[in-house]
Amino acid sequence: MFEYAPAPESRSVVDIRPSYGLFVDGKFVDPSDGGSFKSVNPASEEVLAEIAEAGREDVDRAVRAARKAYEKVWGPMSGRDRAKYLFRIARIIQERSRELAVLESLDNGKPIRESRDVDLPLVAAHFFYYAGWADKLEHSGFGPDPRPLGVAAQVIPWNFPLLMLAWKIAPALAAGNTVVLKPAETTPLTALLFAEICQQADLPAGVVNIVTGAGDTGRALVEHPGVDKVAFTGSTEVGRAIARAVAGTRKKLTLELGGKAANIVFDDAPVDQAVEGIVNGIFFNQGHVCCAGSRLLVQESVADEVLESLKRRMARLRVGDPLDKNTDVGAINSAEQLARIRELSEVGAAEGAQRWSPPCELPDRGFWFAPTIFTGVTQAHRIAREEIFGPVLSVLTFRTPAEAVEKANNTPYGLSAGIWTDKGSRILWMADRLRAGVVWANTFNKFDPTSPFGGYKESGYGREGGRHGLEGYLNV
Ligand code: NAD
Repeated sequence: MFEYAPAPESRSVVDIRPSYGLFVDGKFVDPSDGGSFKSVNPASEEVLAEIAEAGREDVDRAVRAARKAYEKVWGPMSGRDRAKYLFRIARIIQERSRELAVLESLDNGKPIRESRDVDLPLVAAHFFYYAGWADKLEHSGFGPDPRPLGVAAQVIPWNFPLLMLAWKIAPALAAGNTVVLKPAETTPLTALLFAEICQQADLPAGVVNIVTGAGDTGRALVEHPGVDKVAFTGSTEVGRAIARAVAGTRKKLTLELGGKAANIVFDDAPVDQAVEGIVNGIFFNQGHVCCAGSRLLVQESVADEVLESLKRRMARLRVGDPLDKNTDVGAINSAEQLARIRELSEVGAAEGAQRWSPPCELPDRGFWFAPTIFTGVTQAHRIAREEIFGPVLSVLTFRTPAEAVEKANNTPYGLSAGIWTDKGSRILWMADRLRAGVVWANTFNKFDPTSPFGGYKESGYGREGGRHGLEGYLNV
């Protein structure tokens, strides 16, 4: 199982400071009450750095800085000048992408192959893409004089720390807003390096502010009366609490929440290709993906063949050191997340589904969970209904396309779905009926800055990405 590559990506390419302050008004500052927490490498449990914890007073300072920058500098600035800053940030991200990728893998636990080849190129692409919009808003069907909203409060999760930051900050800034962003408490480091990049790009002080901390910091930020827009990505539970906190205020709200996507394999799909798509759908980023294909719906006539092939493929997955370029599945992001995955896995077994993992020797230290599939799953099982957010696949079968649609839609979520079939007409028939914001056909987990992303039902509302991603930051 463990065939470690001889040359892991060296962590020496990144210079991690022992401690980090908050990024407010263009400078790193100490928190008012001196509170802090630790950011830990989930693959080794080593402490990476001490991180400032922002209280209400710090959040207030950050929101005031963002307001001042909005009124005095960024709001009045021409779109062409805003674009110059965004292009500059995009280029610096490209130049420093190796450093950012290593830091992302250290703080998050994701394989370097993914942070280097997926996350970082997409992060830069989002800044390039929205830079291109900044001077074209008047001519893009938003109406004669689209206006920014003001100060955006942005709260993001830990699964794609830098990419979620890019999804939020790039369109907000392109549209003329200023931001206060709170990264997740387990993965603050790349957001803090991004703050340094803002300094390097000479971005005017206060346009981007980063406040680190846990849920209390996030709550203080979204409840702050000086905020005009709240954009949240995270769990449906916290999304609900935020919707309640924002109700009755002037704040506009975008929510990107959880998912339980169906990856649907028909009997005419090329098996090898579908199996790659299933593996990518659930084991990419350890399954810490809101749109992960966590429910495999396979047509009964090919279920045995697909499952045998899937197991053979899973036995070749390399689980281990995130900085090893050959690693396929890295570390689980935190002890808490590992406990949640273990608990739901035990529930699945106790409810009578059959659990299978390839033989897999996991490192002693750090947070690890072997790639796992459950067969014999029914709609009543909790593992078929609840988001596990880990490398755990629930397998169900179906006989007809109509049954596949019924099972795929039988979830409170509606973020994404995948279809594997040789028939174009079936793709269109299915896509029309699947209640999901994204439907992939003969591929999975494909993202692009030009494409809107977002959920139906309890997966949230509003869209990020593409032209639609700007609408959430404009008065049109
Ligand atoms: P989470 O909801 O626990 O935390 C997300 C963020 O919210 C963190 O920064 C956290 O500190 C903050 N937070 C917690 N309580 C808060 C409160 N009361 N007020 C304001 N902020 C608060 O989610 P998580 O565990 O970090 O992330 C996993 C979840 O994110 C999964 O459900 C996943 O599906 C979802 N997600 C969705 C998308 C999407 O685009 N739909 C993308 C990535 C992740």
